[in-house]
Amino acid sequence: MLTRLTAVLLTTATLSLRAQQTPQQLADAELPSLLTIYKDLHTHPELSTFEQRSSGIVAKELKDAGCDVTEHVGKYDQPGATGYGVVGVMKNGDGPVVLVRTDMDALPVHEETGAPYASNVITKNREGKDVPVMHACGHDVHMSCLIGTARALSKLKDKWHGTILFIGQPAEETITGAKAMMNDGLYTRWPKPNYALALHDDSDIETGKIAVIEGYSHAASDSIDVTVKGAGGHGAYPHRTHDPIVLSAQIINAWQTITSREKNPLDPAVVTVGSIHGGTKHNIIPDEVKMQLTVRTYKPEVRQAILTELDQIAKGCAVAAGFPSNLMPEVHPHEDEHTAPTYNNPELVRREAAAMKAVLGNDNVVDKQPMMVSEDFCEYSLPDHSIPAFMFLVGAVSPQKIADSKKPDAAPLPTLHSSKFLPVADTTIRTGVVAMTSCVLDLLKR
Ligand SMILES: [Zn+2]
Ligand SMILES: [Zn+2]
Repeated sequence: MLTRLTAVLLTTATLSLRAQQTPQQLADAELPSLLTIYKDLHTHPELSTFEQRSSGIVAKELKDAGCDVTEHVGKYDQPGATGYGVVGVMKNGDGPVVLVRTDMDALPVHEETGAPYASNVITKNREGKDVPVMHACGHDVHMSCLIGTARALSKLKDKWHGTILFIGQPAEETITGAKAMMNDGLYTRWPKPNYALALHDDSDIETGKIAVIEGYSHAASDSIDVTVKGAGGHGAYPHRTHDPIVLSAQIINAWQTITSREKNPLDPAVVTVGSIHGGTKHNIIPDEVKMQLTVRTYKPEVRQAILTELDQIAKGCAVAAGFPSNLMPEVHPHEDEHTAPTYNNPELVRREAAAMKAVLGNDNVVDKQPMMVSEDFCEYSLPDHSIPAFMFLVGAVSPQKIADSKKPDAAPLPTLHSSKFLPVADTTIRTGVVAMTSCVLDLLKR
């Protein structure tokens, strides 16, 4: 009798244990702990290339989930920058290799979310200047999702076989971290993946939903420094100077015709002047003006044409303004701050969208248009896209806020990088963990 009772109890225990073995239930079980980690990461953001504490947390948690962890992966061109990349290998017999990446860095933004766990951090940037720091892009959500996914997959080893490379990537915001990890032998010291996956939170989409983009999803990005030279003098004697401020104004206006008149309207592109500095006082015409631009494109030929036109137009305006040849503007694209567009392998997107729909429901996996923001996740698929890669988006906004933002005269929703952007942490992290775990299970299923 006792034996039979023990057998019944044991069977019940085994069944309830098995009942735990779905990504949703594992995510629910881990959520309180993941929220604690998330809030801690959110309160303690770190700038690009300074991710010491965050990478330590990712490394510790991956170790605790059973990964073989290597820290300090990453070699930058920048002198003095430390590589805080983390690689965690979870091996479970023979089979394909799947890379799962989180980024770890935060932004020089003063947080204004009013969250009880908001960041008050002020730190010195690489130039030695004091700046506020905030996880305004949700990389704290991504780290929490990666940890949750590693925990879930460590408990689901009877359902998959192969190797998972969990990547904690530094310096995404400066688009230098993925390259630094590749330069440090990511694909030679560790097995080269058959697939690369990542997620990013989304500031337009309802929490609980996933959005997918087939093909190109994020634009190529270029940073360009411009120096408009002049010959300064007294503000009351403009005829005795070459005024770089008036010339800069003309150049900025003329550049607007690049996207509106020069290129094919069907090719997306953005030219934004994000910074302009010149002069010190009301009555002095300065010797130069400095500008910083970002250029976003998809096609390499469009990118090249825009870079050429920026230079031609700047010089053309200077000639038209009668500037001598030794005072021509200098247009300098930063080769080390260029990133290629991100390409989501269409076959992989369709396969994983189906896997996510099976778990989250058809209505919770939606399509989204490509974006002009950029990512260095493209590095993991290699320039020829020979490693199929897929970055999906995890909605992070409460449905109520989305509804409110559509009312007349309502303030627009805060975007990523806004001081007011605060993801709905619990449902967003839960959905991210369930979605990523389901994708990996699908790619490595027994
Ligand atoms: Zn960002
Ligand atoms: Zn980001």
